Amino acid sequence: MPGKRGQKPKASGRKPDASEKPRTTGQRPKAEGTKPRARIAKPEVASPKALGGRLLRESLKAKKARASRVLAALEQLYPQAATELAHTNPFELLIATVLSAQATDASVNKATPALFARYPDARALAQATPEEVEPFIKTIGLYRAKAKNIVLLARQLLKRHGGAVPVDKARLRELPGVGWKTATVVLGAAFGVPGIAVDTHLMRLAGRLGFSSQKDPEKIGADLEKLFPRDRWVFVHHALILFGRYRCTARKPHCQGCPIYLECWSKGAW
Ligand code: SF4
Repeated sequence: MPGKRGQKPKASGRKPDASEKPRTTGQRPKAEGTKPRARIAKPEVASPKALGGRLLRESLKAKKARASRVLAALEQLYPQAATELAHTNPFELLIATVLSAQATDASVNKATPALFARYPDARALAQATPEEVEPFIKTIGLYRAKAKNIVLLARQLLKRHGGAVPVDKARLRELPGVGWKTATVVLGAAFGVPGIAVDTHLMRLAGRLGFSSQKDPEKIGADLEKLFPRDRWVFVHHALILFGRYRCTARKPHCQGCPIYLECWSKGAW
């Protein structure tokens, strides 16, 4: 924690101190001690090298213990954590997840009721042209490419799987517009298949919490899956998205009063 006189800078690899308390005064770190302002203003997680060194020094046992405390806090915060994408069946969730790439869930939820009313299943959507679909999703970013993708996706679903969403990651990934993240999200949210899909929020949080120094989402997911119980992987995915969306936001995380402040390696970096 910044601000104690004579304390070494965090970048030195000091282990987390359980006695650390959240700042409650609202003061900027620069006013609390002798550390240079520039060092405090720069989040240490911005440097994967610095984080990587510290990651190596923390034992797996200690990291799992931190993850367990983070999980307990998330369970308190979001006991019903689930996807915010509106859907009533796996087909709708698959289409909504494809549409949500580089777009907000809110923008997708505005468009999908009319889309699914007109095209309620893979057979109906497979018979449409992308141009017919575009008006339904034009408020979503990249809608032309996405219209093509979801029509092709529906056609492939119909041709290869009789219109049903396969409960198999490899088969899902063969479908147009479906990558590792989408397949993992759909399997977890629609079928309860364990997996931690990593989106932009989980990438950021895995770094800030010191749970992974990887950059590749699949590798970050693998790091996270080593730390949390398998039967909580889907919950962890949803809860960390909510935490990243509403608390540990990209530009101005709300560190003051953060329920996992003591477990975080980036507290006070803002
Ligand atoms: S809000 Fe602040 S203290 Fe909480 S996890 Fe994010 S960076 Fe860490």
